[in-house]
Amino acid sequence: MRETKRTEALAVELLDLEAKPAEARDAARIAALREDPLVRYVLDDALANVLCPATKLWNTGHGANTMREAVSLVGGYGITEDCPGFLGQKWMDAQLEATYEGPEAVQRRQLSVTMTSPVFLRQLEGFVREQRELADRDPSLGACTLGTAMQLWLWTLKHLREADDADGRPLYHSTRQGVTFLMADALCWLLASRAQMLDVLELQKAAPDRPDLADALPGTVRFFADLCRAQAARAAGEVGRICAELVFGYQRHPTWESCGSCYRAGDLQALESLIPGIDAVGRAFDDVVEADGSHPKKAGPCVSFHGFEAFSALRRKLDGCLVEAHLAKDRAARALAGVMIPEALDYPG
Ligand SMILES: Cc1cc2nc3c(=O)[nH]c(=O)nc-3n(C[C@H](O)[C@H](O)[C@H](O)COP(=O)(O)OP(=O)(O)OC[C@H]3O[C@@H](n4cnc5c(N)ncnc54)[C@H](O)[C@@H]3O)c2cc1C
Repeated sequence: MRETKRTEALAVELLDLEAKPAEARDAARIAALREDPLVRYVLDDALANVLCPATKLWNTGHGANTMREAVSLVGGYGITEDCPGFLGQKWMDAQLEATYEGPEAVQRRQLSVTMTSPVFLRQLEGFVREQRELADRDPSLGACTLGTAMQLWLWTLKHLREADDADGRPLYHSTRQGVTFLMADALCWLLASRAQMLDVLELQKAAPDRPDLADALPGTVRFFADLCRAQAARAAGEVGRICAELVFGYQRHPTWESCGSCYRAGDLQALESLIPGIDAVGRAFDDVVEADGSHPKKAGPCVSFHGFEAFSALRRKLDGCLVEAHLAKDRAARALAGVMIPEALDYPG
């Protein structure tokens, strides 16, 4: 155990060195650490401990959800035994895959422990840089969107591990699966989208070795790149939703009585002589409590984002990162509708 801890420290040192700008890196030390088989083992182990449960959890769960949609695509026919492709049975099979060899809760439980290892978290920070570099080379895959979603997830995890809920209880705790399991699910969306992009990069790399597919490959790569972009946006949406729910969902709504940031009508009117128009502006953008204690009809003053500025900025940025995602999805849908399947005479009718 002591040796593992020592090697983990070396792995963290290596990842920190590699995170520095190229000109500030200690190349000799990086090379020495990269050559150490124990360091390499610790790096791979930390990644595998996340990727294995994440793959089992996300692929099977997402597969089962997608099968439900496939069934509904063909209407009532989908839920009959005569349906071509036996979609109903495949849907049940997908649920079986999600259950045996460790049901979803078991995978989430394992992830909630392994995804907080410092070695993995540094590797995830490395994925953010990898996504930015990839987006710089090829913006068509949606890598920038994914990088920002990863940043939001990292911010949220750090916050949850440090913060308490409205009753003073720690948010990130092994018995609090309402938090840990949702963060595991969010991470799976990110890792799945990244894996899909890596697949497209492999396809691009393979292109020169496949002259027989020279005509088809550029279009195929473009099609899969569009799917990546649409999926990155979908993943970003899920991660944004989950993170916002967890960051704000364990706080209490402010009340009119405790509202320190609300304007009092008298204060606004007093300021009006110094700053003409402030009364109207204050009422348009802020919560105002009148002299008789009355206030706008709603649950209470709007929630203040004080202390969450970094989170809000990332969320806004992530919304902007969704641009073009649906253009890509439409393009992929058009391409799919135009696919020609060569007639195969021996295909069973
Ligand atoms: C078709 C099929 C074939 C199978 N083949 C084999 C086989 O060959 N060999 C074999 O050994 N087993 C086999 N199994 C058993 C399979 O591994 C179990 O069904 C699976 O591990 C789930 O256990 P369980 O059914 O007892 O459900 P439970 O463990 O009771 O789970 C019930 C629910 O509670 C959730 N849950 C469980 N633990 C937690 C937790 N700690 N926190 C929160 N939620 C939790 C689960 O996700 C699930 O939603 C097979 C199952 C099926 C369906």
